[in-house]
Amino acid sequence: MAHDKVTAEYGSLVFSDHDMRKRLPKPTYQELSRVIKDNKPIDLDIANEVAHAMKEWALEKGATHFTHWFQPLNGITSEKHDSFITPQDDGSVLMAFSGKELVQGEPDASSFPNGGLRATFEARGYTVWDPMSPAFIKDEVLCIPTAFISYTGEALDKKTPLLRSEVALERQAKRVLELFGHKPKRVVTTVGLEQEYFLIKEEDFEARPDLRLTGRTLFGAEPCKGQELEEHYFGAIRPSVNAFMKELDDELWKLAIPAKTKHNEVAPCQHELAPVFEQGSLAVDNNLLTMEKLKLLATNYGLACLEHERPFEYVNGSGKHDNWSISADGRNLLEPGPHPEDNLQFLVFLACLVAAVDEHADLIRMSVASAGNDHRLGANEAPPAIVSIFLGDAITPVVEALIRKEHAEAHEEELMDLGVPALPDIFRDNTDRNRTSPFAFTGNKFEFRMCGSQQNVSDANVVINTAVAEQCERFCDYVAERSDEDFVSVAMRFVRHTFRDHHRVIFDGNGYSHEWEKEAEQRGLPNLKTTPDVLPSLLDASNVALFEKYGVLSESELHARYVAKAEQYAKLLNIEANVMVHMARHLFIPAIISYSGDVATSVATKAEIGIDATAERDLCRTLTEGIGAINTLATALDDKNAEARSVSDPGKRDDFYRDVVIPAMELLRDAVDKMEVICSKECWPVPSYNDMLFYV
Ligand code: ADP
Ligand code: MG
Repeated sequence: MAHDKVTAEYGSLVFSDHDMRKRLPKPTYQELSRVIKDNKPIDLDIANEVAHAMKEWALEKGATHFTHWFQPLNGITSEKHDSFITPQDDGSVLMAFSGKELVQGEPDASSFPNGGLRATFEARGYTVWDPMSPAFIKDEVLCIPTAFISYTGEALDKKTPLLRSEVALERQAKRVLELFGHKPKRVVTTVGLEQEYFLIKEEDFEARPDLRLTGRTLFGAEPCKGQELEEHYFGAIRPSVNAFMKELDDELWKLAIPAKTKHNEVAPCQHELAPVFEQGSLAVDNNLLTMEKLKLLATNYGLACLEHERPFEYVNGSGKHDNWSISADGRNLLEPGPHPEDNLQFLVFLACLVAAVDEHADLIRMSVASAGNDHRLGANEAPPAIVSIFLGDAITPVVEALIRKEHAEAHEEELMDLGVPALPDIFRDNTDRNRTSPFAFTGNKFEFRMCGSQQNVSDANVVINTAVAEQCERFCDYVAERSDEDFVSVAMRFVRHTFRDHHRVIFDGNGYSHEWEKEAEQRGLPNLKTTPDVLPSLLDASNVALFEKYGVLSESELHARYVAKAEQYAKLLNIEANVMVHMARHLFIPAIISYSGDVATSVATKAEIGIDATAERDLCRTLTEGIGAINTLATALDDKNAEARSVSDPGKRDDFYRDVVIPAMELLRDAVDKMEVICSKECWPVPSYNDMLFYV
């Protein structure tokens, strides 16, 4: 898009503040603004007027339907389309949309995961308009972002607790700010989500049942070349990929999604997209839309977009970095300024974050737990499963000095001499990046790097927001208990004691190293490696108390989330195991039988004319043994998977998948991959890693 077109079309598919102001009577607009900006309840008269204006706008943009767009517990987005048509007695039709239809929907929601919160016979669920996230148009459908709740008001989605956690954090952060003499109108979180993904040829994707059905390759021998030459990272972008990225930008910009940065990532075929940060829950909505657009638009270019955390063995997997900060009326509260050592308000918020992450490391790890992400965390390419915080060169000395009860020296900005007079002088970035840290302070925000690429990161933000709200309240209580003392010295003591008491979670070294695992254990930091290890933390009494205290999730809602997550893990692994058995029996065994038959024929023919074919004979024997091994291992996997399905307790079932089914999957894969490398290319029934990862 040319630049003037970009500015003209940016946000054209979003019912923006500008559209509202233009189309609504002034008092209605003012009332709606209060609802949106100040998080106030809306009344039905206003909703009727907004619905009318929204419908007129949508019809002008060619929409014929509307939908309540929501995020059920499986993390993806759901929509059911209703048309605007209202047939009239005279046979004509009107296009109608009422305030009630805008505010509330009632999808027949019995088939969404609910973790046991609703029995099917009372499966009513409501979708409720979230006016803070703007409505938008997608494929001629007006999409209204909503929260999804049960008949009894329990959250059945990812968005409701996120909004509640934002309310809790705002309330507590305002109390902290008030102690510093500030009374901001709004305190919000800001979130910027860097999204990693793979693009491969669509024909390769379609030829592999594992990719089509599970999003990742369940078989595949190591390619001749991996990512060791590091030429893909920031490398020139393939023309087809470039064309795709351009259309993607155009489409995202029309939806007012501020896509900013795009580049090739470390693994072959891997790419990244980062938008400019936005208010937290809006950023999450926009990330979900971005993920949908990535998949849809790729097919226009003969490409398939893989969002799975681990589509391929032997090369890096994909994550999503959750850049998080907190902002009061547009002022970033994690901005240290030139003298962080004297910036008490900054130090208080920083201390609150450090304590929040240390105290709730289990929940933070839980928030990114999934079968897919288990392949990444701790695999020497992504942060380990151990939660720690990196503070960087500028802040660490301040914290260390505080703990020693000393005043830290200001960290002077360092000018770098590049040795070439023509190159402009630059300052060294004093927040040098530690890529191995799961939770890194990067200048004026935290970057939480454990999230998986296909995850809905509401969960992660719910935990961070709630845990920080708790610490903000702890600060306020601490000050209140010492009201007869000088505020500055009390606040300073809070900061010092907090850093001292949570020092163990601060780690600036190499998080990928084996030594760190040992050291973390000595420091008493949890190392919860798999999803089944960490999901029970949702049910811990102290965690239930935390979420209940801040009105984010009730005990029954937490229990439902636990069950839904535990079931999701088992269901995914059941599908993966089924696909493996299917591919082994229907694709690999027949292919190897056929190839070994050709080799056997060749051996026999050569014997007839008196040529000894020792190599072919050996190959034929190895192939035949391979068929036997695959057959045995496929049957074993099938049996173990059946046994897993028969375990009724969700936690025990997940443990069985992790301890018994996954090892059986690994054995089968190994047996098949060993055959792939000795079979002819022609006979192999699916595209290889060499083909998929290095296409032209
Ligand atoms: P890197 O690859 O070095 O991590 P990027 O520039 O790709 O950095 O991404 C950084 C992300 O952090 C962007 O989405 C950016 O908008 C976001 N970000 C910057 N400042 C803030 C902030 N105050 N709050 C939340 N996110 C932020
Ligand atoms: Mg990053």
